[in-house]
Amino acid sequence: MNRLVTILILTLIGLVACFFVAVPIFSKNIFAYGAESINNVASIFFIESSKPEVLKEVLDKPLPVERKLRILVVPGHDNEYWGTQYKGVKEAEMTLTLGKELARLLLQDGKFEVTLSRDDNGYFPVLAKYFEEEKKEILDFAKSKKKIMKDLEISGKIALKLDGVSHNNAPSPVVVRLYGINKWANENNIDLVIHVHFNDYPRRKLSSPGTYSGFSIYVPEHQYSNSRSSKDIAYEVSKQLQTYYPESNMPKEGEGVVEDQDLIAIGSFNTLDPASLLVEYGYIYEPQFLDQTIRGKIINDLATQTYIGINNFFGKNNFDLSGKYNTTLLPHTFQDVLLGGMKNNPSILSLQAALVLEGVFPPEEYDEHSCPLAGTYGACTKKSLALFQKKYNISDEAGKFGERTLQKLNELYGE
Ligand SMILES: [Zn+2]
Repeated sequence: MNRLVTILILTLIGLVACFFVAVPIFSKNIFAYGAESINNVASIFFIESSKPEVLKEVLDKPLPVERKLRILVVPGHDNEYWGTQYKGVKEAEMTLTLGKELARLLLQDGKFEVTLSRDDNGYFPVLAKYFEEEKKEILDFAKSKKKIMKDLEISGKIALKLDGVSHNNAPSPVVVRLYGINKWANENNIDLVIHVHFNDYPRRKLSSPGTYSGFSIYVPEHQYSNSRSSKDIAYEVSKQLQTYYPESNMPKEGEGVVEDQDLIAIGSFNTLDPASLLVEYGYIYEPQFLDQTIRGKIINDLATQTYIGINNFFGKNNFDLSGKYNTTLLPHTFQDVLLGGMKNNPSILSLQAALVLEGVFPPEEYDEHSCPLAGTYGACTKKSLALFQKKYNISDEAGKFGERTLQKLNELYGE
């Protein structure tokens, strides 16, 4: 997504909005509703469509439940419009891998009914047909919602932040698909929609890594009908992801969970009834996404952290896929001595996860952004390994992964 452009636009709009807030807005009777009924429109339009208490109630019933919680997982972009791309890897491929794993975890849980919007064969046939046959209805639906929002804005009932400004200037088939997903989700009583993305932003050399790293979760802005439960779920997912992964350090994404009025995926113009999150799982150029093996392991774990976060929202963390560690990177049995300078090594990745749980990774003089879990034995790993050795009185040379270090790690984290 063109985050930099968005930020520039946001800043400009922010300035303009700040200026106009102080000026009374005159409506001049140009809205279609009477002055009386605009109040009714506002109260009907923004009636809360998703309540966290109700969602929790559904799952509180013992198994087998009459009604499962319906989750729609949307791997961002598709084969036609693949989003961002870095060193030959397309965002749409990464979102599909993550989306499939998340859907698999949710499905085997038994409490959830899961729809995956697309798989290796393309869009879920029901959705593909819907986009095709309901195109006009989908566009009319979006148009009528936009009209209501515009009228409410004119009457001063709501504050529109980003009228007409799109995050990524979505081409029109994409607009039909995104609004189509919203309309379909409303009509099919979906409870939660999760959009999976990887981030990027415009910069001079798109072939080199950018400055920012970390994840962020976009949720509907607080005026929207589906805002409250979206935010509650997002905070749990964010908290869980933070165990191993840092929140984005891009200024606008600084709070980890970001309210947004303009992203279609989470219901711009109040077009979505169910709770919705759009997770940007990290910047596509981050080192943990570059090597195929490490990328696969990290994506699996990101899906798992999301799954645990969702369960935490429901107060039901029955996660037992990898026992006590709450990560797919552990347990791990270390076979060989590891050497400084090694790269893209799955054992080092597991070592880093263990060091996080030991509270020594990243070491104090670094932060999570300069020490990502990426399977590289560099300065971060060396220093935190020395702290681990000190903690357990291991007599290997400080920062070197020797035999005694290997033994202790297998004792604590082996399979
Ligand atoms: Zn994307």
